[in-house]
Amino acid sequence: MRFYRVEQPNGPRFARATGDDVLELLDAAPWSGGRPTGEHCSLSTAQLLTPVTPSKIVCVGRNYRAHAKELGNEVPAEPLLFLKPPSALLPPGAAIRLPPESQRVEHEGEIGVVIGTRLHNVDAQEAVRSVFGITAVNDVTARDIQKREVQFTRAKSFDTFCPVGPCVATGLALEQLSVRCSVNGQLRQHGNVEQMVFGIGALLSFISRIMTLEPGDLISTGTPEGVGPLLQGDKVEVEVVGVGVLTNGVR
Ligand code: ZN
Repeated sequence: MRFYRVEQPNGPRFARATGDDVLELLDAAPWSGGRPTGEHCSLSTAQLLTPVTPSKIVCVGRNYRAHAKELGNEVPAEPLLFLKPPSALLPPGAAIRLPPESQRVEHEGEIGVVIGTRLHNVDAQEAVRSVFGITAVNDVTARDIQKREVQFTRAKSFDTFCPVGPCVATGLALEQLSVRCSVNGQLRQHGNVEQMVFGIGALLSFISRIMTLEPGDLISTGTPEGVGPLLQGDKVEVEVVGVGVLTNGVR
């Protein structure tokens, strides 16, 4: 099943795909028990919004060996966590803004995990059972700022630095997920969960021992090697098989 969020005359609504081009509107977020209202709209003409409205976005750094190496870092002994603020969220199709403070903004295509039930202090098996679905994330990063500051906060948090979507897909096999990132049609990154240093269950369990994860929270699981610059006019695409392609321009 694929879940979207769309702009409607009476405001943003969650929806689920019931056909190639048919969305059925829901009365609440699907992870909060949202039920079909009987109203429909067309996927191809709908204005897509971010398919999640998380209370927090938890990201994982250096979770692929080859990516840690390309930036000159060691693989951490424990997951390296940081946060992006919900104000950085960007819908599919909207433009990433290059901030004047940075001369080097880069894409990081990632597999996003959406939490289904509240998680606190759980083991990996229970954590995996609490996953609602999967989405695609671009963890856009001002690399020059990240390199000269200890905290990642500023480098990772500019408005528009967290494109997510186009949908949240349920029922995908978590052990078979893969992600690709292209810029202007040229493949820059590809990776899969088998290459992760810490798998999804281990990550969620680790995070749940620090902070309670709420339904709808978003975990971005780290990026494979091949990160590179985004320039004015670029088109960047992050694809997670089963989720679709998250496309954003750059300006
Ligand atoms: Zn990242």
